[in-house]
Formats: sequence, structure tokens, C-alpha cells
Amino acid sequence: MSPEILLNARNLVKTYPLRNGVVSAIDDVSFDIAKGETLGLVGESGCGKSTLGRVIMNLLSLDSGELLFKGQNLSQLAPPELRRWRRHFQMIFQDPFASLNPRATVRRILEEPLIVHGVRGARERQERVDWLLERVGLRLDMADRMPHEFSGGQRQRIGIARAIALNPELIICDEPVSALDVSIRAQVINLLIDLRQDFKLTYLFISHDLSIVRHIADRVAVMYLGNLVEIAPRSRLFSSPAHHYTQALLDSFPV
Ligand code: ADP
Repeated sequence: MSPEILLNARNLVKTYPLRNGVVSAIDDVSFDIAKGETLGLVGESGCGKSTLGRVIMNLLSLDSGELLFKGQNLSQLAPPELRRWRRHFQMIFQDPFASLNPRATVRRILEEPLIVHGVRGARERQERVDWLLERVGLRLDMADRMPHEFSGGQRQRIGIARAIALNPELIICDEPVSALDVSIRAQVINLLIDLRQDFKLTYLFISHDLSIVRHIADRVAVMYLGNLVEIAPRSRLFSSPAHHYTQALLDSFPV
């Protein structure tokens, strides 16, 4: 039986306006992500990885192309409908500090998606927040603190708790450990691996760090100047890259 496709991306194009012209950040990109798989997305800085993640999250609009989530074309949805679908896909950002409201307590930050998506009972929300904190390895008494009172690794755990709050199916991890101390990267990666297993999550894992991608991804997509030049199972990609750019990338990065 072929695997269930969670996300189809078809001929995605995204440009940014410049003073005299446009820059093409994603230039006709197509790929699928199967349910339960982790697709690594690698490529040098500026090749379009973050733009692709943000386009999938609908944080940026496409110039053209189609995104189908479980067969539903997201660009055809009216805003209220899109909001309902959005609970199924979430994002973990590189810089947890910038992505967390600095004036809100952790409880407030974690309650927000629950409120937006209609979890009405205060008690139900409190129980969910406590469960989330525990699940990402934070203490319950931390709920009343503000983001600046946490270490970088703890802040990323808050970001992860927020991402899983609504039981999503797809999580886009955009360089989720790049801003963290090397000593705690492995802990956060292991948390993401545990959560993937426990909740059957699907990840698009964006990283410039090939050793992390080799550790976590099932397949790897290689991006170069807005194009996907190769997409292959992890072991094949690392042992016998088909595209000369992938080879150059591997050569420049000791895994
Ligand atoms: P990556 O995540 O791989 O570093 P990005 O998606 O951030 O790449 O950027 C892809 C290209 O789009 C780069 O050339 C970058 O300079 C350009 N770009 C990204 N964001 C903007 C923006 N807001 N306005 C104009 N150009 C942008």
C-alpha cells in the first residue's frame, strides 16, 4: 500500500519585490510529504528554505502553484475555513525568543492557540497547559513565568509545546536548534524525535546542519537558488548524491 500523502506542493513560485524588479525565492518547486515521515530540507543560506516553510504555513502568499493538505487546496479556502485547517499544521521557529510574546506568561502563550480554536473551559485549558509543560520537560510552576526568565533551550521547549498544543499533524521545524548552545541541541532534537513517535507527527525539518538532518530525516530535499535539485531517501542521498550541488554541499560539510 502506498503511504498516505499529507502535503502535495505543486509548482510553487514565490518572489519578493525589489526596488528594481523581483527576487525569485522559490522557483517552481514540487514535492510531497507522506504522513509520518520527516522530510529534511537543506541548502545554503538564502536558497529559499525559510520562504518555503512560511509559504506552507500560509504566512506568505504564493505567486503561483498549489498546496494541497490531505487533498484540500489551501489557497481556495476562505479565511475562516483556513483557520480551521491551520490547527493541523504548525511551525517551530529558529529563534524562540522572537517568536514568543515577551509580555505574556508561559500559561498565556500556551493558552492562546487553545482559545483561538475554541477550547472554552478554563479548567480544560489549564489541564492542557500542565500536560504540555510536562510533555516537553518543563516544570508546572514555570507556567507563570515570562519568556525572558528561561534559558534558550527551555524557550524552545515552550515553542515546541505551543506547536503541539492543538494536536497538529504536520510541523515545520525551521532551524529549530541552530540558535541553541551545542550542548543542548541533542536534547531538543531528542524531544522532537520522541514527540514524532508518540503523536505520529510529520515534520518538514529545515536545517543547514547536515549531521542533524542525517540523524532525524527519512528523506532529504536539497535546495539551490530557489529550486529543489534533488530529493532522495537519507541513506541514498548521503552515500551517493545524484546532483553535483548535493555533492558539493556534502563535501563542504563534514558529517
Ligand atoms: P534561507 O531560509 O534558505 O536562508 P530565505 O527563504 O530566507 O532563504 O531567502 C531566500 C531568498 O529570498 C534570499 O535571496 C533572500 O535574500 C530573499 N528574501 C527573503 N526574505 C525576503 C524579504 N522579506 N524581502 C526580500 N527578499 C527576501
